[in-house]
Amino acid sequence: MTDIIQLLPDSVANQIAAGEVIQRPASVVKELVENAVDAGSTVIKIIIKDAGKSLVHIIDNGCGMSETDARMSFERHATSKIKSAEDLFCIRTMGFRGEALASIAAISQVELKTKRVEDDLGTCILINASLLENQHPVSCPDGTSLAVKNLFFNVPARRKFLKSNQTEFRHILDEVQRIALANTDISFSLYHNDEEIYNLTAAPIKQRIINIFGKNLNQNLISIHTETSLAGIRGYIGKPEFARKTSGEQFFFVNNRYMRHPYFYKAALNAYEKILPPNTFPSFFIYFTIDPSRIDINIHPTKTEIKFADEIAIWQIIQATVREALGKFNVVPSIDFEIDSLVEIPLLKSDTDVKQPAISVNSEYNPFEKNTKKAGASSIIFDYRKKDNLTNWEKLYSGFENKDENISIQTEKQTLIQQSPATTFFQLKNKYILTPVKSGLMAIDQKRAYERILYERFLSALENSQGIVQKILFPKIIELQAADASLLKEILPDLNRLGFEINELGKNTFSVNGTPSDIGSYDANKIIEGLIENYKNSQVDIKITAREKIALSLAKVSAVNYSKPLANEEMQALFDSLFACSVPNYTPDGKLIISIFSNEEFEKRFK
Ligand code: ADP
Ligand code: MG
Repeated sequence: MTDIIQLLPDSVANQIAAGEVIQRPASVVKELVENAVDAGSTVIKIIIKDAGKSLVHIIDNGCGMSETDARMSFERHATSKIKSAEDLFCIRTMGFRGEALASIAAISQVELKTKRVEDDLGTCILINASLLENQHPVSCPDGTSLAVKNLFFNVPARRKFLKSNQTEFRHILDEVQRIALANTDISFSLYHNDEEIYNLTAAPIKQRIINIFGKNLNQNLISIHTETSLAGIRGYIGKPEFARKTSGEQFFFVNNRYMRHPYFYKAALNAYEKILPPNTFPSFFIYFTIDPSRIDINIHPTKTEIKFADEIAIWQIIQATVREALGKFNVVPSIDFEIDSLVEIPLLKSDTDVKQPAISVNSEYNPFEKNTKKAGASSIIFDYRKKDNLTNWEKLYSGFENKDENISIQTEKQTLIQQSPATTFFQLKNKYILTPVKSGLMAIDQKRAYERILYERFLSALENSQGIVQKILFPKIIELQAADASLLKEILPDLNRLGFEINELGKNTFSVNGTPSDIGSYDANKIIEGLIENYKNSQVDIKITAREKIALSLAKVSAVNYSKPLANEEMQALFDSLFACSVPNYTPDGKLIISIFSNEEFEKRFK
């Protein structure tokens, strides 16, 4: 019997390769525009007919090709972008596989015109399903013009599976948006069936985003920026109240390359910590700069998934960065209530003299003493308000200096704070605080409110090492199980920073000599045991830092003591403190604190 194995002809091999690289017209657009970007172009024009099914034509003003390179560019594995295997580990270009042009030319009719600045004449090449039909010198502008006609004309099965023009064009738009967002210093124009779709001039990132997605976004964007030794992160995130019902405005870029990264996507989403209306998605445009040797862009044939060496650390950086940005701008969610309709507050000018509101504090008050009902407001709440709310007031005003887009949010918060002094409160079942607001009746879950307040307070104490110790007259001894003891040892420095004074006595035994003044002289053992229990049960994942977990657990155990009758001033204090928090309407673990029964609901009931 004769041997039966043969090498496939190039045209067939290329067609097979095309199956991987070119799924639809949008893939052609992506590959060709990326080539134009790699060629150093500053202006790129994209002309599409019939959603790319009859024509994808890209014209650039980049470096162009020599006569030989022009011919070579259609060979498989022909690339100018890498030379050795080592180069694969520090990719700085969009392409590097040398497959795109060979693949495209195998399944379409291609016309290339290209010229380098230094050449007098350019080169024109016509290829039909991998076959060179014509090559001749041509007079043409510097740069490259590549027209791809009748995609899949020789692969009817593929052509049949293309979707409607609307869908295919949607895919093209996606690709163009991604590349345009990743390369804001390049001008892009896009035409479909002779209609201008985009005309994007080179612009800073924010302007580019707005040029693509519309002016509405202008009010919606908060800038983010972090530099770490692992990666630089900058870009914009959307305010929660502008979140959309559909996902689709979430973009990650790494070294100016679009990437899909479901894991980082979750990090950004997590940072919104349930401050989003249900089933909505915030926009984000997050740009990483990272040493190319710390990422691997080679794991996916169409190269939108990228592997990071320091994924877990970067996860945390993203979450912290987004969270900080949301916090910095006092983004108060207005999910249930129409805060802005409560009071109209005029914008202040920077030369206006602003007085800080004065607050009287009963420093003698101890919420844990019996018979405190008449003693005025809770010291926890008032201390908190005094310390943090005052700085918040300053923050509120600092935003007024430059008439910037974040004002509206700050005004909302201010509206609530200002509104509070005249408010009446009712307590229901020692559990809920009710107070009328313009849009209806606001109900606050008392215990959860304390959780939020204490959590933020503990967290800031942890970060600033400012916890105040309340000494215990007779130190308490706690003996724990081995696992709990080692956990306690681990978090001991942070606990002591919070205002605990705990010493290790050996053999899983500890002495407690003091507790944070915020939690009073409540049974220290119980608090610590409860804290450990909560700490263990708060999901063991990297979603929150150890400190957040400590603050959360302690807030939870301490808040249990607050399901009790409150005097009107205490409710007022609670209300004020709650709205001084960065996220007033959800507990740190995402439970609802505030709900509004709308005026309409009341009216309906009495019909
Ligand atoms: P890759 O981009 O992976 O190198 P391609 O098949 O997309 O592979 O392109 C092959 C080569 O052709 C590129 O490496 C580049 O040298 C050249 N080339 C392609 N498009 C252009 C362009 N628009 N301007 C200049 N050179 C180009
Ligand atoms: Mg390429």
